[in-house]
Order: sequence, then structure tokens, then C-alpha cells
Amino acid sequence: MRRTSTKAAMPTQLSDQTLARLRELPMAEVAAAMGIILRGSKAMCFNGHDTASPSFTVSKTRNTWKCFGCGEHGDAIALVRKIHGLGFIDACNWLCSHFGVAGSDVPPSRLARSIARPTKPQSVVPSTSVPSNRPDPELYGWLTAHCGPVKASLGINYLQAHGISPELALKFGIVELVNPTKAYLKLEKHWGAERIRAAGLSGSRRALSWYGYALLFPFKSGAATEYLQVRCLESSMKFFGPSGIPKPMFNRERLRQLRKGGLLHICEGVPDAVAMEGAGFAAVAVLGATSFRSEWVEELLPFDLVGVPDGDTAGEKFMKCLANEFRARSKSVRFAIPPEGMDASDVIARGKNA
Ligand SMILES: [Zn+2]
Repeated sequence: MRRTSTKAAMPTQLSDQTLARLRELPMAEVAAAMGIILRGSKAMCFNGHDTASPSFTVSKTRNTWKCFGCGEHGDAIALVRKIHGLGFIDACNWLCSHFGVAGSDVPPSRLARSIARPTKPQSVVPSTSVPSNRPDPELYGWLTAHCGPVKASLGINYLQAHGISPELALKFGIVELVNPTKAYLKLEKHWGAERIRAAGLSGSRRALSWYGYALLFPFKSGAATEYLQVRCLESSMKFFGPSGIPKPMFNRERLRQLRKGGLLHICEGVPDAVAMEGAGFAAVAVLGATSFRSEWVEELLPFDLVGVPDGDTAGEKFMKCLANEFRARSKSVRFAIPPEGMDASDVIARGKNA
């Protein structure tokens, strides 16, 4: 079965040598690869408790990270586990694949093998400076334009379970990417490897940074696609966003069409916002408490705000973060809290499928 092929290829053991190399990857680069933007050695903590000053710190001498707010700490592997919600082996594999460390078990399809190492293996430490990735609307737009509408049952079922009809998916430009290996080759032919890497879609390995079938959710700004969220449906990593690119607000354009005082839902996930729009509610999505930017407060102030967190602990952090951000401006935010363990789109899907 295609669905299990990725898993089957995973080794259950990594050599001590590979582990040591992963732990030597420069901490700042690992953090950047996961969208943590360091100022010097500090950043806002991914746990979302920071509102004013950053508590997440990287130690160059020890090559570790620690948060002085919540006390979490660890090495590169621990950070990938936290941020991508992966197990130990999967986190190691992600690092191997992203930084081109041998020992990765990325499914060795024939195509992948033929392009994987055209020259001698790259050094584990690509450079001393953090590569400066930047959003690439042209490339993101080209990629989504070369994917098709969601047709595979894997994708159709996912959308349906999240209350998103095929028509609604089309309206929001949600597409399916069936074969990342082929897609990478096409992208490389058209744009070159360096540009794909700078757009945050690949690491030092010449391959996209995710495996298997995935849905792409474009973040539109006018005709431009300023960001992509990848929902992986065949890999243990659920979501992927371009590495080193700050996450924008999803459906931000909606703010321009909404009258002052209009009801606006702030969801935690992209599928939630799409499902709410489908149900006739104005909605934007902010990808987790850590991605909320203080400059968005100003844009959101004119509206009647309802926060829609997931019914889990991350949802509680999201709620606290929103409440804090707006309290400073004496603005109250109401919350629509889904039953425990559910998110807004689950509730909408349940209503629809009932
Ligand atoms: Zn923290």
C-alpha cells in the first residue's frame, strides 16, 4: 500500500555517528529551519507564553536551546520533536533529510536516488551564517498552479472530515501534490535548486522537505501566493511550512471586505478558517500562539472578534496569547471553544455530515 510505504522504509536504528552529527548541527540553523527567528541568540518561545520579551535562548558554546520562561530545553533533535510533534526517529530523519546528513532513510525511490548525490556529500555544517530564506510568491504560485484539484480519496476524505466541500477547496485554491520527488525535479528544472532552498521548500538535500501525498493550502494576497501550508497525509509530520519564513495570517484579505464592527473569527488552523468561511462566517487563521504578531492587533481592532481555539492544551495557550495581545489595547475577545479534543472544523463537519 502506498500509504504505508514511507513508514516501511524507516529504519528503526540510527548509528551513533549519525546521531552525533545531528547534535553538531548549528542550533541557530536548526531553529531557523523550523521558522524560529532568532534576534542574536534569542527568540519568542514556541510555547506561546512570551508576549513582550523573548525567553527562548540558543547557546552557541553548548549547541543547545533553553527557554527561561517555561524551562524546556534540549538539543537539535529535541527541538524538532517539540515543534513538529515527532517521535525520536522521525525527528532524526527530518534533520537528516533537511540538512543532507547521510543516514537519512528518505524513501529511496529510483528518481530520488539518481538526483540525491550528484557530487561529494556536503559537509554537515553548510555555513557559519544562517541562510536567509525569503518568501517566494512566484515560486509558490507556480508550484500550486502545477498541482491539480484534490482528487485522491486520501485528500477528499481529509477535506470532508474537516467540513470542506470540493467547491470550497477550489475557491481557496487548495490543491493536491501527489509526488514530491517529481514535483522537485520540475521545480528545479524551472527555478534551480538554490531558489527552491531559499524559498524554504528544501534543505541542503535536493528534495522537497516532506514525504508522500500532501494538500497545499495557499495564503493569497491579491493574485500572489505569499506562503504555503503543506498538510502531509502520508507522513508522520503533519504540517510543513516553508523553513525560515515567518507565518503570515491566513485569509488576511478578508479584513478588507469586512465592515467595521463585523464578526470575525480567529481560528488556530487553516482548515478551520476555510470550513468557517464555507459555513458563512468571516474567518482568518493564525497558525498557533507562537505565530501571532503584535502588528496584527491594529488590523484586527475594528472587528468583533471571536477566537476559535482547538479543544486541547495548545488551544489554551492560543487563547491566552490572543487575550493578552488585545488586553493591552483594552479590547475584549470572545471565545468559541469546541468540545475537548475537537477543533472548529470537526464541529462544522459533524454538523454537515449529521
Ligand atoms: Zn518557553
